Parts: sequence; structure tokens; C-alpha cells
Amino acid sequence: MAPDTRHPDKLDRAVIFLGPPGAGKGTQAKELAKRYGVPHLSTGDMLREHVSKVTPLGKEAKPIMERGDLVPDSLVLRMVRERIERPDCSHGFVFDGFPRTVAQAQYLGVLLRQHGYRPPLVVHFALDPALVLRRITGRRMCKAGGEIYNIYERPPKVEGRCDSDGGELEQRPDDREEIVGPRLQAYEKQTAPLVAYYRRLGRLHDVDASKSVEEVTQRVLEIVRGARQPAH
Ligand SMILES: [Zn+2]
Repeated sequence: MAPDTRHPDKLDRAVIFLGPPGAGKGTQAKELAKRYGVPHLSTGDMLREHVSKVTPLGKEAKPIMERGDLVPDSLVLRMVRERIERPDCSHGFVFDGFPRTVAQAQYLGVLLRQHGYRPPLVVHFALDPALVLRRITGRRMCKAGGEIYNIYERPPKVEGRCDSDGGELEQRPDDREEIVGPRLQAYEKQTAPLVAYYRRLGRLHDVDASKSVEEVTQRVLEIVRGARQPAH
């Protein structure tokens, strides 16, 4: 079966992508948003936009971000409300990295109901933690051209050298195991209740994120199309 590339139909709902760093969630969220012509929403992008445009929200968030502190829920939620009320969200939108907690998920549920949206569809990227660790700690970038390799999954022909320009391959400091390990543990701890919450509500759809990017895209589209039929 040839993969579909056109989508004359509308998304008309909120789709939430949940998954650990390194699982390919961001790529897939952007791809789905592009195919349906709806906004791809990340709270990080929203915050940066408010700060750069010096909006009231941005003025509040800036000093907090500069201190390196976490922006409080109240501010994030106001920002999300403001964002989904914009006209470009009227045919649905894709959330990437939000909600992060059950409290945020509950607030989002209320917000969606108030704005006449159906319950959100949650795409959960399931990936063996050991594999996530390999994907991230195996990543190497060419210092010259920026090409990305993975010493386990996509190694260069010559160890430590870029295939296209011979540049030196280096590991980003953030990709080291001592940084990534604790980050993944924190993610699991924070996200487990959220996954359980959406699973209980019957909104959660698992995706095997160990598959290729194309296969994962097809699975995501199947989920979205399957969930579109019984409108209520
Ligand atoms: Zn290179």
C-alpha cells in the first residue's frame, strides 16, 4: 500500500504527543501538524515567542527563565489558553511536550470542553529505556557539517570521522550518559501518572517508537484516522 501524503480531511481535535526525549516525538508531532495543516504547539516555543515580543506573559516569564527556574503552571496554562484561542487553532492542533502533569491534563480537558473540542487524542511513544539511552548516548555530530550519526544505529564508515567531509565527530555534552540517565529517570517518574491518567480515560494510543520514522508516521496516521470516525 502506497503511503498517503494528502489529507483533504480535517483534524478537528487536539492531539497530544507523549514520549521520552530521543524517541522521535518532536519529529512526528511536526509531521502530523504539517499533513493536516494545523499548528504544532510547544510550550517552549510559546514562551520564547512571548519573551521576544515582550508581551505581558513574556515580561512575567523572562526573569523566571533567566534564573533558570521552571515557569509556574499558572503562567503556562494562561499561555496555552491564549494560544488555542487564536483562529489558526480552530481546526485542531498538535501538542508536543504538554501537558506534563495530571493537573495540567485536567485543566486542558476543561479548556477543550469550554471551547467545544472533542476529548484529546493522546499518542504515546513507548520505547525501552535502554534503547532510548543508546539512541541519545550514541549520537555524534560532525564538527564541520553538522551531520548526525549514531555509533550503534548509524555508524560512520570510519570511526570518529564524517562520511561526507571527513570532519571530526563529537558528542554533545548533554548527550552523555551521566546527564541523560537522570533526565530519563526524571521523565519516567513525572510522566508515569500522566500516561496512567490518559490510559484510564481510554484516550491513550501506544506507538512502538523503535520502528523506523516512516513506520511510526503511518501508525500515527492510522490512530488519528481511526479515532476520527465516531464523532461525538
Ligand atoms: Zn561532516
